Amino acid sequence: MPYKQILDRPNVLVAGGAGFIGSHLCDELVKTKNVICVDNFITGNEENIDLLLQSSHFKFIKHDLQEPLDLDAQPELEIFQVRFQGVQEIYNLACPTSPREYNRLPIETLLANSQATKNLLDLAVKYKAKFLHASSSAIYGEPPDHVSFKEDYWGFIDPVGPRSCYNEGKRFAESLVTNYGASLGVNFRLARIFNTYGPRMKLDDGRMIPDFIVHALTKEPLVIYGDPQSHSTFCYITDMVDGLIKLMEHDPNGTFNLGSPELHTLGEIAEMVLKITGITVGTKIVEPLPYLARQGLPDITKIKETLGWFPLISLEQGLKLTIEYFKAHHGSLSLKQEEE
Ligand code: NAD
Repeated sequence: MPYKQILDRPNVLVAGGAGFIGSHLCDELVKTKNVICVDNFITGNEENIDLLLQSSHFKFIKHDLQEPLDLDAQPELEIFQVRFQGVQEIYNLACPTSPREYNRLPIETLLANSQATKNLLDLAVKYKAKFLHASSSAIYGEPPDHVSFKEDYWGFIDPVGPRSCYNEGKRFAESLVTNYGASLGVNFRLARIFNTYGPRMKLDDGRMIPDFIVHALTKEPLVIYGDPQSHSTFCYITDMVDGLIKLMEHDPNGTFNLGSPELHTLGEIAEMVLKITGITVGTKIVEPLPYLARQGLPDITKIKETLGWFPLISLEQGLKLTIEYFKAHHGSLSLKQEEE
């Protein structure tokens, strides 16, 4: 049956909507759309969507996307008239995402990028929905030195290394999405997301910025894995959400890097966290962990020229906001600080 928007708001499905990026995306989308958030909480957190659950334009479905999802059979979606209006946009952010989760959830990570992505693409075919897939800078692999990656670089990946479930999973997903586009006409875009940070990141999943903040607030030296002079980039969450929405709305089929071009050495970032928190514990340099990879930097010329998107929040501003959030939401951390 042909699906047509009949309500004044389009229906949008956000897979992985209870995760870090997904929940911020839902916060923004719910202002103008009906949002169907699907998540199985494998790495997400119910608290991330607590406030959203109070909105009449937000519905949550707990579901493992490795299994097909029949939206017509969900009574809570009757209010969005899904049976008649269908779904206009699908954002696929459902994938366990953090260095430590690769070790804990390798099969789930592979299946999120294969079976779960296929199930979502089948929904995109059924409803003729626009599809945005959250890919990753991980598909490029480790750079030979500190180079910027353009979208036409094919990557250099170890298919059996400690990060392969994520890196190869993301590469497979890109191919799956692209081939659904070519053979079944799905209107898709691939967002190659580089490091993103901000409120609601998990404190204990092995990512550098939460690790630095936790160490500072608990008065332990900030641990730098590898060379403190190596560079990295971090995009603040509100900029990332803005980029994802622009990418969905402006219909530029294809592949786009999204990340911050603002380069900092790891040592500089650690110093910035220490300065903002006012803590003087210093840093400790240790050997890199096997699952941590040297990272390439984003060349965002394509999305800048196509959509006029580029990040607005500086690392220092973003870190201040993130540290404030962590202090406010993780009582034990601010208590430690007050004890001094
Ligand atoms: P996250 O782990 O916080 O969110 C992922 C969400 O997907 C979680 O809520 C999880 O419960 C859910 N999920 C996973 N498998 C599922 C399944 N089978 N069924 C239903 N729900 C499932 O991660 P994030 O940082 O918000 O990342 C979101 C997306 O962006 C991911 O695809 C990730 O690979 C990509 N990405 C993120 C970053 C970053 O810096 N955060 C960088 C590159 C790419």
